[in-house]
Amino acid sequence: MNLAEKYHNIQQQVPSSVQLIAVSKTKPQEDIRELYQLGQRDFGENKIQEMCDKSAVLPSDIRWHMIGHVQTNKVKYMIDFVHLIHGVDSLKLLKEINKRAQNIDKIQNVLLQLKVAEEDSKFGMSFADAQEILSQEIDKLQNVKIIGIMGMATFTDNRKQIQDEFNTLKNYFDQLKVISPNLQEISMGMSSDFPLAIAEGSTMIRVGSSIFGHRN
Ligand SMILES: *Cc1c(COP(=O)(O)O)cnc(C)c1O
Repeated sequence: MNLAEKYHNIQQQVPSSVQLIAVSKTKPQEDIRELYQLGQRDFGENKIQEMCDKSAVLPSDIRWHMIGHVQTNKVKYMIDFVHLIHGVDSLKLLKEINKRAQNIDKIQNVLLQLKVAEEDSKFGMSFADAQEILSQEIDKLQNVKIIGIMGMATFTDNRKQIQDEFNTLKNYFDQLKVISPNLQEISMGMSSDFPLAIAEGSTMIRVGSSIFGHRN
């Protein structure tokens, strides 16, 4: 299948209530343009430098999603154009985003990344940390808006485990929404597991290799 066929194939599996973010990391701008011409506007990158380089040359109505781990000292490079920062995993990072957003008079939408996978390699805060931020810190941070949570399941063939982890994220979301009724998004699901994520309540899936092909 070519790129357009792969894209349509994925689109057919995504209900209209779920947002598809095309993860274009490592892929050339021509691939992004091709998807753009097919109507795709939401693209995900995991490196700030690469996202900056691409945004500088691609259409300005693309909504750029930072889905990777964010170092505090790099927030300043993306703050003027990033649409949604998915990987907010500490209060320190949240405060830095708030400060940079304040400087340019922007309200930055973000997601709190929660850790549910068993792997040490996965980033994310605990449920307790998220509770504390939403109940005690967020009112002091006028230039960030937490609109939901993000998470990744363990890299495993065990479907039941993946399903349980997505279900845990959905439960966390439901409990956090009691504290913070503004929450509306659950970013979970990638190429290998997005149907499971959608079944468990995902509102945003981040799909790379199933659209663009394997990365080196
Ligand atoms: C790379 C990446 C994806 C997309 O992964 P695929 O398996 O290629 O769909 C999704 N989420 C995050 C955080 C990623 O880094």
